Amino acid sequence: MTSLKPPSYDENNIFAKILRGEIPCDKIYEDEFVLSFHDINPQKKIHALVIPKGKYTNLDHFNSNASDKEIVGLLKGISIVAEKLGISVGTGNGYRTLSNIADHGGQEVPHLHFHLFGGEKIGKMVS
Ligand code: AMP
Repeated sequence: MTSLKPPSYDENNIFAKILRGEIPCDKIYEDEFVLSFHDINPQKKIHALVIPKGKYTNLDHFNSNASDKEIVGLLKGISIVAEKLGISVGTGNGYRTLSNIADHGGQEVPHLHFHLFGGEKIGKMVS
């Protein structure tokens, strides 16, 4: 996969600081590939974030540069976290995951992250 405009990674973004342990987070899960924590400003009853440990700005940057192991690790991490939160298909009633990508996607923090919303009906897909 090629990228016409490779994004440069901002080492001082808030999630980079969380990964370096410089600021705290309300941790849900961590392994070799991902860190997951509760969103500081929850939009639903359950609102978690899952981020890769590597320095990737968004999903396109990740898919163009991450190893297959990192890609699998992130995708599996989402399901592991959903299970831990009791919102997976096996443990609960389901959830929504989404990733905002760059300007039109409404991304605020320039480190790839997936939001997990659950614990209640999430409603309309896009408002
Ligand atoms: P996005 O708009 O997709 O970039 O989402 C960024 C998310 O990060 C928002 O939902 C914020 O509430 C969340 N956020 C920002 N700072 C923190 C933090 N220190 N700990 C947890 N979540 C945060």
